[in-house]
Formats: sequence, C-alpha cells, structure tokens
Amino acid sequence: MRVFHFKSSLIALSTAALLSACVTSPKMMKEDGTEYDVAAQYEKFAKVDMNPDTSFLSASEKAVVNKLIQASEYLSEIYLRQRGADYPALREEIAQNGSKTQLAMFDLHYGPCDSLESDFAFYGDTQCAEGGGFYPTDMTRQEFEDWIAAHPSDEAAFTSGYTVIRRTEDGGLKAIPYHVEYAKFLEPAAQLLREAAELSENASLTKFLNLRAEAFLNDEYFESEMAWMDLNGDIEVAIGPYEVYDDGLFGYKTAYESFVTIKNPEESAALAKYKNYLRDMEANLPVEDRYKNFSRGFASPIAVTYQVHGGGDNENGVQTIAFNLPNDERVREAKGAKKVILNNVLGAKYDRILAPIGERVLVHDQALLTTKKYMSYNTLFHELSHSLGPGNITVNGEETSVSAQLKDLYSGVEEGKADVMGAYNILYMMERGELPSSEKEAFLATYFTGLFRSMRFGITEAHAKGAAFQYNYYMQTGAAEWLPEQRRYRVDFEVLEQSIADLTGEIVRLQGDGSYEATETYLKTYVKLDEPAKAALGELEDIPYDIRPVYPSEI
Ligand code: ZN
Repeated sequence: MRVFHFKSSLIALSTAALLSACVTSPKMMKEDGTEYDVAAQYEKFAKVDMNPDTSFLSASEKAVVNKLIQASEYLSEIYLRQRGADYPALREEIAQNGSKTQLAMFDLHYGPCDSLESDFAFYGDTQCAEGGGFYPTDMTRQEFEDWIAAHPSDEAAFTSGYTVIRRTEDGGLKAIPYHVEYAKFLEPAAQLLREAAELSENASLTKFLNLRAEAFLNDEYFESEMAWMDLNGDIEVAIGPYEVYDDGLFGYKTAYESFVTIKNPEESAALAKYKNYLRDMEANLPVEDRYKNFSRGFASPIAVTYQVHGGGDNENGVQTIAFNLPNDERVREAKGAKKVILNNVLGAKYDRILAPIGERVLVHDQALLTTKKYMSYNTLFHELSHSLGPGNITVNGEETSVSAQLKDLYSGVEEGKADVMGAYNILYMMERGELPSSEKEAFLATYFTGLFRSMRFGITEAHAKGAAFQYNYYMQTGAAEWLPEQRRYRVDFEVLEQSIADLTGEIVRLQGDGSYEATETYLKTYVKLDEPAKAALGELEDIPYDIRPVYPSEI
C-alpha cells in the first residue's frame, strides 16, 4: 500500500523554486533533514536487458505474443491515468522542464513519487494523492462514506473494483465504469486481443482472449477469469485490471496490468507435483489439529514462466517475481488460484541482488551455498503456503476470519507466515524425498539471506515486517550468530531447522487464535532491527535494491 506523507510534500513544495532555478542539481530535502538524491535513487534499480528465449515458439505463437505486447502498451496508458488523472500532462511538463533523471524516475515509478522513500515526491510541488487517479483528489474518505450513506443505491457502483469516482458539475460524486472512462484505450486493446485470438492455434488461449476482449468492453470479468485458469499452451498471459494496492483510500479499485509470459513446459511439470502435496502439508503443520484447515480447495495450478513483456501495474517500481491470481473468490472456490513464477525476473534478482547480499551477510563458506534454485523454491513454497493454515476462524463463538481479526497487522503476519511456512514445507519435501536433502544447507543459506533482501525495504512494509520477525526469532534461538570481527553471520543449520518448525507453529496459533492484542505484542517483540542487522544492512548500500528490466518491443 502506498502512503501519503503530507509533510514530505510540503517540503517538496518549498524546494520547487530552487529546483526550477537550478536544474543541474535536482536535490531535495527529506523529512528527516537529509538530502534526497534522485539520481542515487534511480541507480538503486539495476538495468537488466531481458532477452527471454522464444526460439521454441511457432511463427503464429510469436505473432500472438506481439499482439499481446501491443495491447499491453494500452494498459500502461490506462495505468498511468489510474496513478494520477493528470499524470500524462505532468509527464509532458517534466519532459519539458525537469531533468532527464526525473523523467526516467517518473517512468520507472509511473508518477512523481518514489516508492522506496515512502512516496517522496521528486518533482516540483506535486503531491501523491492517496486515492491515485481513482477518486477526485479533493475527495476525503468521509465524503465518500457520507455520500453512500445518503445514496444507498450508489453503494455497489461506488465500491466496485471497476469504476472511477468523479465529481459532477454541481459538486456531487458519480461512478463511471472503467469501460467508459478508459474506452479510448480499451477498445483498441480489445481489438488486439481478438486479433491474437484469431492467430492462436491453442483453443484455451483463443477462448480466454475473446472473453477477455469482451470483458474490457463491459467490465464483466468472471467468465474470462474462469477461462484463464484453464490456459494450457506455451503462452501464459494475464492481462486486465487485477490488484487494488494503488487505491490507498479504500482498496476497492483495481489497477490495469499485463504479464506476457511464455511457459517452460518441463519446469512447470516438474513443479506441478508439489501442489498435490498441499493437503499433506496442511496435515503436517506443527500444530494441534484444531488449527489445521481442510476446508479450502487444494487445486492450485503452477506455471513456471519467462516474462517477455510487462505493462501497467506490473512495470511499476519494485518488480514482481511471482503472482497468485485471480482475486475473485468465486473463481478461487471453483478452480483454486494459479501461481505464476516469472523465472527470468527472479533469476536476474538472484544474480544482481541475492547472491551479492549473501556474500556480505554470511561467513564466506556459507555464502558460497546460496543458489538460484532455492530462491525459486522459496518463492514457490511461499506462494503455496498462502493457501495453508487458518483462514475462516471462530473467535468467542463468532464466525470471522484471520484478516478481519488482525486488521492492519494481518498483511505483515501473513507474509511472514508464508515465508517461514514455505521453508517448513521445503524441509518437509526433503523429508519425503521430493527434494534432495543433500541440498538442505544450500536451501537454508538462501532462505536466511532472503530475509535481508526483504528487510532492506524498511520494516514497515508487509514483506519486510514478516522478514524482521523471522530474523529476530532466529537470533533469539541461536539459529544465527553475529560475528562482530567478520561483520557477518554464521548460521547454525540444525538450530535453524528446528526454529523454522517452532516459528511456523507459533504463527499458525497466533493466526488461529485471532487475537489482535496477542499479535500486536508478538510483533512488538520481534519486529525490530537490532544492532547487527543495522550493521549488516549498512554494508549493502551499493547492492541494487531492485532491477529495471528492459524487454524487447517485439519478438
Ligand atoms: Zn506473499
């Protein structure tokens, strides 16, 4: 979730004059009084040329992919307007008056706000509205809620994931469907999907693309989401409005994005076997039976893919390495959710970020153990573990859910749970002989290093919070020890293995009990950066935070 910092925007305002007078030095001051360096922030993202191998695609498949790449560009246009209704004009202005780096930063973050610095506005007096371009910038939460209270018949349209809210001429509010608001982009995008459907020789893809084209023009996504679950060829594409993270006001409005990827059939088949273990994994959780949850569907297709092109929300800032869609609960109940791993994005992050971090945080002989393979497995089992453990629960005789009970604490706990439970399940797969137990140390070294990759983002973000409580738990149990002279950690693999099981149990009970107070106390104890962590993170400054992939414009 992106956060609006009124104070930092005020500071941005006061430096605007300085900025326009002195274009060669686009430096600004942050809230804490330190300098904000836009060029240094841009360099935190390492440029990586992505040239996925597409040689095994047929000529018609390549033609389909190229149509999908073109359609993605239209979704990027929409997404820019979803980030800020006036952002296309602002981009023009920066192109005219700003520095080259500011323009590149704008394109990287889809707007003038730096997501690595609590949405610090790096251009002029711009502000980053909490509700993005989904709502009028002068509308408050209160006004929206009051409007619905006074006009109950508007509620469905106002809270829909597929409408924007605009002002009427007399100062009221109205909902406009996406297919109307963004018709200029959705119509040509739908046309391209139809052309791609026509070119495709894969019936499941043709069906999905035709249904999705229809959905672009009427905002009815259910049928095409069902068809998406059944895709079975070399081309794996997700294209449409999906995630709600950009709606910082209410979390109602979906953002357009696209993932144009090709599937590696052998790798996908090799990983598909793990979904058959979901029920066994649930049964194997190290908790009393009453905490185990067998009421979810365990269907869970897994696709290992190589991204060929992205668009919209997918391109913005920190890059996605895996996703789990659709979000529509009706589809999830009927068919489960598909886990898609973007293996080339993940591989680039391993090479540029995780492996170099390992060299700085682990003693030399353990740093040599990290592998790309286990970064990939950590990611897969993290995603699988989101489907395990308590979901709907009963607290004091009332039916509720973990997320409803834990509220704002939920996302940090859930991300940490998925990490540690993912690790627990990898160890379980080694026990079952489905992964080689000779690679246990490689896995544990990679997993421990991954915690630092997450904690760098500041321990307020959900994944970083989750990483911080795992790290502090392991420091407490002696699973890792800081060696001040080497300024590195040594992991005790045996203790870490036991601690992973113990922590998995503790988190599952915490979620299953559904006590906000107990969870708050737990997080207060374990979400912190101790002196060794600060020292270790301080050694990582020259390692990129993320990557800036550049994809071919056609294949
Ligand atoms: Zn997650």
